Amino acid sequence: TKWVYTYGDGQAEGGAEDKNLLGGKGANLAEMCNLGLPVPPGMTITTEVCTWFYKHDRTFPDELPQQLEKALDYIGRLTGRTFGDTQNPLLLSIRSGARASMPGMMDTVLNLGLNDDAVKAMAVDAGDERFAYDSYRRFIQMYADVVMGLDHEVFEDILEDEKARFGHELDTDLTAQEWQQVILRYKQIIIDELGEPFPQDPVKQLWGAVGAVFSSWMNARAITYRQLHNIPVDWGTAVNVQAMVFGNLGENSATGVAFTRNPSTGENQLYGEFLVNAQGEDVVAGIRTPQSLTEVARLEAGSDKPSLEKLMPDAFGEFSAICGRLENHYRDMQDLEFTVERGKLWMLQTRSGKRTAKAALKIAVELAENGVITREEAVKRIDPASLDQLLHPTIDPRAARDVIGSGLPASPGAATGEIVFTSEDAVALAEAGRKAILVRVETSPEDIHGMHAAEGILTTRGGMTSHAAVVARGMGTPCVSGAGSLRVDMRTGTLLTVAGPLGKGDVITVDGSSGQVLKGSVAMLQPELSGDFGKIMEWADAARRMKIRTNAETPADARAASSFGAEGIGLCRTEHMFFEGDRIVAMREMILAENEEGRRAALDKLLPMQRSDFTELFEIMKGTPVTIRLLDPPLHEFLPKSDDEIAEVAQVMNVPVDRLRERTDALHEFNPMLGHRGCRLAVSYPEIAEMQARAIFEAAIQAGADTGEHVVPEVMVPLVGMVEELRFVKARIDAVAEAVMKEAGQQIDYLVGTMIELPRAAIRAHRIAEQAEFFSFGTNDLTQTTFGISRDDASAFLDTYQKKGVIDEDPFISLDIEGVGELIGIAADKGRKTRPDIKLGICGEHGGDPLSIHFCEKLGLDYVSCSPFRVPIARLAAAQAAL
Ligand code: ADP
Ligand code: MG
Ligand code: MG
Repeated sequence: TKWVYTYGDGQAEGGAEDKNLLGGKGANLAEMCNLGLPVPPGMTITTEVCTWFYKHDRTFPDELPQQLEKALDYIGRLTGRTFGDTQNPLLLSIRSGARASMPGMMDTVLNLGLNDDAVKAMAVDAGDERFAYDSYRRFIQMYADVVMGLDHEVFEDILEDEKARFGHELDTDLTAQEWQQVILRYKQIIIDELGEPFPQDPVKQLWGAVGAVFSSWMNARAITYRQLHNIPVDWGTAVNVQAMVFGNLGENSATGVAFTRNPSTGENQLYGEFLVNAQGEDVVAGIRTPQSLTEVARLEAGSDKPSLEKLMPDAFGEFSAICGRLENHYRDMQDLEFTVERGKLWMLQTRSGKRTAKAALKIAVELAENGVITREEAVKRIDPASLDQLLHPTIDPRAARDVIGSGLPASPGAATGEIVFTSEDAVALAEAGRKAILVRVETSPEDIHGMHAAEGILTTRGGMTSHAAVVARGMGTPCVSGAGSLRVDMRTGTLLTVAGPLGKGDVITVDGSSGQVLKGSVAMLQPELSGDFGKIMEWADAARRMKIRTNAETPADARAASSFGAEGIGLCRTEHMFFEGDRIVAMREMILAENEEGRRAALDKLLPMQRSDFTELFEIMKGTPVTIRLLDPPLHEFLPKSDDEIAEVAQVMNVPVDRLRERTDALHEFNPMLGHRGCRLAVSYPEIAEMQARAIFEAAIQAGADTGEHVVPEVMVPLVGMVEELRFVKARIDAVAEAVMKEAGQQIDYLVGTMIELPRAAIRAHRIAEQAEFFSFGTNDLTQTTFGISRDDASAFLDTYQKKGVIDEDPFISLDIEGVGELIGIAADKGRKTRPDIKLGICGEHGGDPLSIHFCEKLGLDYVSCSPFRVPIARLAAAQAAL
């Protein structure tokens, strides 16, 4: 088996298409080599070795050492150096690289191969002692940390101590001799803490690091990250072993990271940060404040530190040309890492860059408009769930701002919440239904849970590419990073600001769009839905087959949904209309009536109210289909519960308290969700359904006359399990329609259908379709009844199920395709057999869930219906499902 793939000098054994085998980093390094870009030569040990490693008790395949040695020879030939040599040592960087970028993995180890002898040769060779010892101390620190497991803080303490002793402020100020002192202490503390010396043998160092990368695939951080992002464990990681290039070789050396476009706004402008005389993660670690790549960005940031453009114009020129090439080659915005060694540019990484939803839209639209990608590709590139971010509020520009600090606008949107300083507190607050702003010096992968739980994130250190910034953008959580004027004092649990100290629980607002931190809560504005958003939506609409409707009963919801592009109402729950104002009184009169006559009298009062509700909805929806569901919940939901309430209601309604209580007791049910509700009410009290049907038909005539639109109402009978139920109720509805048409002297077109929300209904769908002109899959109830799990009581144990790995996802959020989905498929087939043109749709929460929407497309449903704010998500997901 070939376990090792090399690259270097304009050619590689793999390429971008080999991500599964080489991991993302390795595949792209090979690809850059093939493109002839300056990449330090190296090798990738494949993900298959990782799989082998775990199958064989954490050991390596027999052929690996030999293949690795051969690859080292190849790298040595290209660099003119020899690994393990004391005179002319080849130094290596060891980098992990899974298929998908994974922040939970092992950190990179740089300068591997150095030891007490090699460092001397390096000093002579480079003509720079300081550089050699700086590299050596970095190596010891990184290796001891990530391979030997000694906490890096131990080393930082020593370094701070020595800096103070020598009177230096910056790491770069230390002399070679001073670094040698630091190194002595580093080596000693390793012996003290671990009882073994720092390994001097380069081969031993190399295998240690390679083993550490593979082992890190199973560390807790990586496991959590995989769970959060649904990355399968059997993918494995690759290990990249690459010749070092040195950004810490003096003032004409540098290291940096860049995006080919602004990852926050999507603007087509090279964007990034670098540090002179530095290595690797100095940039993201926030040890020194990084400088801007371009003059434009420097001016915008108001910084007086020179840009790379100014400082190293040749390297910058080459770099920006490469950026353009890579973007065209990959046809997407790239996230790049580079190093300049004594003026010579080296490319160390490229990948599709993470971006905010806003930037994703802008980039996709621009690439499509410039013909780099098609409109369909543009539509496919947007993660539907990410649109949520755009529906985030922003701070009202007219609102007064009590600014107490500011940092970088790391992830857009604004959020208000209580200060917490730990991830645990953020999670606890979220669980209590309260909003938290996570305030940290910097975040690390251990904070992922807290970052998920928090409404917003604030860090006092780190740039736009710091951990906090990158992760927050990915999650769509507003974030301000590197707010240097603020200070976190973890000891006392305070945030020190110009306006005085703030503690845990104090309310602040972070504005991830401007970088400001504000005291208290601030008025917010809803987002803009035109521009790039509008274009992607338009393209999605062109690609989409299914219609998108909304679940709405109030005029406000219907209007909001229309503005988001809803093409009808898939579910109007009429019971919500009975709670408002004095309607509840008429409703209670109806419920308390002794006989049909009494009920009809009360229903007569409700009729005009319902009629005007429906008229308004029909008018707002302008002739698009509106599905109205007849009364669904058990009647006791409308009655008062506590003694006080009963007494109050009795007085208002002028009935004796005892009679009211008698009636509420009589209506009590042990299991109301499986009780006297849905079409069962219509069978018991047909006059209720008749009143609602009349209101619907009269409203259709009225709205038709007012707007000139042809209104075709869809009357939906809930909770049908047997065709006889539907036959009974439909006969009443048809009779009312007949009567209304006669009175009005005009034809009304309408449909009568049912919700499929009981397993029996799905199984008997061929019979039910004899009566039903449409099915709407009520997947909330269908999930409850299929699993036999009450949605209201499920959260406690479903959570446990998820934690213990019994289920992957909450079936009330993402449709259970195997079970509930199978029933939907059966019902759709059977329904179509009886009635080929039967209209099919879905109206549960799942109607707004992208995965569930894909399933609906596969079944060929006519529409999905979801809550108003999910309409844009559903439009995009339905388009992607159709493409
Ligand atoms: P991550 O996946 O965390 O970004 P990388 O493997 O990309 O880790 O390494 C992080 C940083 O280490 C790089 O951005 C680069 O600055 C430095 N680095 C990696 N490989 C080399 C190398 N061959 N020479 C010099 N620096 C390197
Ligand atoms: Mg890293
Ligand atoms: Mg990297």
